[in-house]
Amino acid sequence: MANNPLGVHALVWTGGWTPADAELAISSSKQAGFDLIEIPALDPATVDVVDTKARLAAHGMKSSFTLGLAVDSDINSEDLAMVDRGRKTLMDALEVARGTGATYLGGVIFGAITKYPAPTTEKARRNSAMVIKELAQEAAKDNISIGLEFVNRYESNLLNTVSQTLEYMDIVDEPNVVVHADVYHMNIEENGFRNPLLLCGDRLGYVHIGESHRGYLGTGTINFDEVFGALVDMNYQGPITFESFSSAVVDRHLSTALAVWRNLWSDGMDLAVSARSYIEAGLKDAEETRGSR
Ligand code: MN
Repeated sequence: MANNPLGVHALVWTGGWTPADAELAISSSKQAGFDLIEIPALDPATVDVVDTKARLAAHGMKSSFTLGLAVDSDINSEDLAMVDRGRKTLMDALEVARGTGATYLGGVIFGAITKYPAPTTEKARRNSAMVIKELAQEAAKDNISIGLEFVNRYESNLLNTVSQTLEYMDIVDEPNVVVHADVYHMNIEENGFRNPLLLCGDRLGYVHIGESHRGYLGTGTINFDEVFGALVDMNYQGPITFESFSSAVVDRHLSTALAVWRNLWSDGMDLAVSARSYIEAGLKDAEETRGSR
């Protein structure tokens, strides 16, 4: 039986992280049956580490942290002052993850989430990889994994595919750096789901499940049979986190960066419960298919 930790992104519940927001998001994630909540840390200073850790413990929930860098603190740059600002944001985010007891920090941490006006350069790519190396070495002291979430071409010019991400990981060359695969992005950039996921092998460390329009699972065009089939066949044991965005819940940093302009749902609980059962059923079907082969 698959026993992957199942997670849900906090943006299903709230766009802020005041103690009241944290309580709503953590308790709702638990109520919807999830094991883990993914907390955005685009502005790490806004996360009250002590408060968050206590609320996670009270509800028996695990956490992970993700962020994308801002355009003025982009480590995928030739501008060293810019790279330094990005390094600081990442180190601050690592402090937050460490302080709350999380074991995962990922996202678009290798550069800004933005539509770049030009391709990246070899120098910018190297600057990015060297900061990620430093971050990974620091994270390793607390057994924290660092995940590289490759995203579609409109959100990064550096990592858009699994193979680019694996090449970049070879430059970074740290064992706690993993691939963070998001099927929403893969649907735009890859030839399919199965082969790129299998290509990751044991370097796959985190999975985002989202629909082609980022709304309710099963109402878009993503081939989830292929996705869950690959995850089961490769015996992936890591977290599987549901990610969905609607204009009904807005994060001042993330919603504009991700171009969340439409209202795809308004009832986060209904959405989350539906997503959890969809993922569970998908994994179960894939296991039965494998068992009958
Ligand atoms: Mn994602």
